[in-house]
Amino acid sequence: MGYDVQHWVGGTATAGTGSTQPILNPATGEEVGTLHLGDAATVDRAVEVATAAQREWGQVSLAKRTQVLYRMRELLIDATDEIAVHISREHGKTLGDAKGEIARGLETLEFATSITQDLKGGFSENVSTGVDAHTMRQPLGVVAGITPFNFPAMVPFWMHPIAIATGNAFLLKPSERDPSASNVVARLYQEAGLPDGVFQVVHGGKDTVDALCTHEGISAVSFVGSTPIAKHVHRTASAAGKRVQALGGANNHAVVMPDANIEFAASQVASGAFGSAGERCMAVPVAVTVGEAHEPFLEAIAAEAEKLVVGPGDDPSTDMPPVITPDARERVIRMTDEAEQAGGRVLVDGRGLVVDGHEKGNFVGPIVITDLEPTHPTYTDEVFGPLLVVMHVNNFDEAVELVNSSPFGNGTAIFTDSGHYARRYQEEIQVGMIGINVPIPTPVGYYSFGGWKDSLFGEHHAHGPEGLSFYTRQKAVTTRWPSQNETVEASMSFPTH
Ligand code: NAD
Repeated sequence: MGYDVQHWVGGTATAGTGSTQPILNPATGEEVGTLHLGDAATVDRAVEVATAAQREWGQVSLAKRTQVLYRMRELLIDATDEIAVHISREHGKTLGDAKGEIARGLETLEFATSITQDLKGGFSENVSTGVDAHTMRQPLGVVAGITPFNFPAMVPFWMHPIAIATGNAFLLKPSERDPSASNVVARLYQEAGLPDGVFQVVHGGKDTVDALCTHEGISAVSFVGSTPIAKHVHRTASAAGKRVQALGGANNHAVVMPDANIEFAASQVASGAFGSAGERCMAVPVAVTVGEAHEPFLEAIAAEAEKLVVGPGDDPSTDMPPVITPDARERVIRMTDEAEQAGGRVLVDGRGLVVDGHEKGNFVGPIVITDLEPTHPTYTDEVFGPLLVVMHVNNFDEAVELVNSSPFGNGTAIFTDSGHYARRYQEEIQVGMIGINVPIPTPVGYYSFGGWKDSLFGEHHAHGPEGLSFYTRQKAVTTRWPSQNETVEASMSFPTH
């Protein structure tokens, strides 16, 4: 029952030849729709259409490409409410949070409208006598994006506006958990005047991903998701000769120094730990209290967690929504049980929470645990739920050592009043994105987004200048225009200037 979500290929919805699976509402457990899953044949067809479309799109003038993006910007703003409703129903997040991620996706679209500036090459006159040099950037061809459930609008927007602005055709494989937003975006691109086939959506799971990673008609793959799948995609697509950027999981730490405004730090860590039920790659699942910050921080964070209202995303009074699946809920509860059995102290315990009228929803309340050993998996692994572990260290150096011992390096934050320690932190920490008194330091669209270590595989971060570089290839051209009667003897030596 409910609605049907099909692939978007060549400008129309198509069921393809693959199987189907239900789309579930995390707040009710109910089946709300049916998703058509792709297979190798669906990917073949989409690549064929994309290849033909890209040949023409790559020749369209920069001004005309930019005009499509400007129209898309207006259409996206107008469609924000519609997309937010899809996201909230399929992902579970609050409507306000869903609108927030669309606004952050819009930033990358706006960055892409400046492509006329950013695609300018360099030019040098007389690099040798009568010889000039210039550079130009060209599209790769057909590129694919594979995205996670937790930001069904924003993360794809990190990719497609830049890929399209630079003259590529883009194939999106969104998460199978919340697929509808991508089909609305496809419709909007069509309304904005983008030629059919330049932006397409192929739904599915592992089979579709593997077909994209190995298809010879695809030049590059952008992936965002968990670390094991990021490694798989990076390995498989690289082995097939593609350019790959694969952003993985995270376990972000926020360090709270004794000189910090503790109330401020606790409210910011609470938003990082429990916003969107902790299902953000820039969430803050670990707080590291330094010295005397520990006891006051525990008190303040417990108060913050206890006042949160947990409920469905479409209820305006909800602070914290459900998690994505029953399995995700069970995992949070199990990891809390295991932490407690290992001596962890559960200060705030959301394990038994039931939301009236939503007994079949994937709800779990905020959880705060402390006194855990630094080797315990509830601390070291990515939980991806509303579970905050508070670790305690004696001084700044121990905090840096603890944060740097994590295999992940996506984001981190320090709360302090000291410029000295803030500066040392940004210098010494092995993490890609750093917040100073900012809990979720997600770079704006005209900077690039990416972690270090097991949080990113490949050479390029996402969006901003590195996104532009990822979706283009550079040529360097050396030019000489001899006069008709100029004669030069052939030289067998390597040319010098
Ligand atoms: P996931 O890795 O399960 O899925 C991501 C994508 O890979 C989806 O499109 C999915 O269909 C596909 N996929 C799943 N299993 C696969 C398999 N076995 N083979 C091939 N493809 C497969 O991730 P998720 O649960 O959707 O998203 C949450 C994860 O994403 C978290 O680990 C989070 O930290 C991470 N994430 C990272 C960033 C970042 O910028 N680093 C941003 C958002 C989310």
